[in-house]
Amino acid sequence: MDRREFLHSSLAGAAVVAAGASPLAVTACGSTADKGGKALGKLNISFQESVAAGKELAEKLDFMESLGVTGFEPGGKGLWDRVQEIKDALKGRNIKVSAICAGFDGFILAEDPSVKEAFDTSMRRIIDAAGELGSTGVIMVPAFNRQVPCKPHNQETRDYLCAQLHELGEYAKAHGTTVILEPLNRKEAFYMRLVADAAAIARDSDSAGVKCMGDFWHMQEETSDYGAFWSAGVDYLQHVHIASRGRRKTPGEDGEKDNYVDGFRALKEMGYDKYVSFECGAVGDKKTVQTAAVQLLRDQWEQA
Ligand code: MG
Repeated sequence: MDRREFLHSSLAGAAVVAAGASPLAVTACGSTADKGGKALGKLNISFQESVAAGKELAEKLDFMESLGVTGFEPGGKGLWDRVQEIKDALKGRNIKVSAICAGFDGFILAEDPSVKEAFDTSMRRIIDAAGELGSTGVIMVPAFNRQVPCKPHNQETRDYLCAQLHELGEYAKAHGTTVILEPLNRKEAFYMRLVADAAAIARDSDSAGVKCMGDFWHMQEETSDYGAFWSAGVDYLQHVHIASRGRRKTPGEDGEKDNYVDGFRALKEMGYDKYVSFECGAVGDKKTVQTAAVQLLRDQWEQA
């Protein structure tokens, strides 16, 4: 058995142990973690490219593999020129592209038609590449606070957004991928702050190619991590970002604040099988803190 096979069977073994233990586990809100005998979700950890310790791509992937990290999240900028490079780098590894993080020009709610056109063109090129790479989707924000002039925050704009997302979602679906709406905290994007709001916009876009995500850092806006993930549910939740909860550093670097158990319990209950991806800085040595963080998340997933 080589190292990859060992890692794979170890993870499968851990999942069996977790599943075996779960029917008796009663959660804080009184429900069993394994509702109706449904398969539990799986903790698939992913690193963004810029987050992973190491200089060159191969070095980053070697390190990720040594930790059993199975997802890789590159940025979308110029992705169409990197498809072969990324395919080659992942060949023979137990790592897949998780999601693509933005990287488009312009923005979808731009008032200026040329800015909107820049978005449409670059976003579709990124979606093409994401589909080729087997990504779960391409992450996007409708408008950051700093992006002006922006269409006003009213009903007409919401209807426009859903209509535009419908087209984009259908395009993504035809390319074997999705568009993933990311809610951000109010300091960055007032337009869409809650996972439930992103999920509702995805629903009203009426395309299986439009999904949403939750980012534990931005989820400081939520009243409940558990409720937030369940508000999207398995139909809409396509990706998760994670960081420490005090300074947006590596999970664990903010000590007691870095508790993800409540959110993980929702992911387990809904049978979430996509990725939890590191989008964070680091205070300490990257290799050291990322190694500890992966263990912390596995421990908390077990507790959830
Ligand atoms: Mg994020």
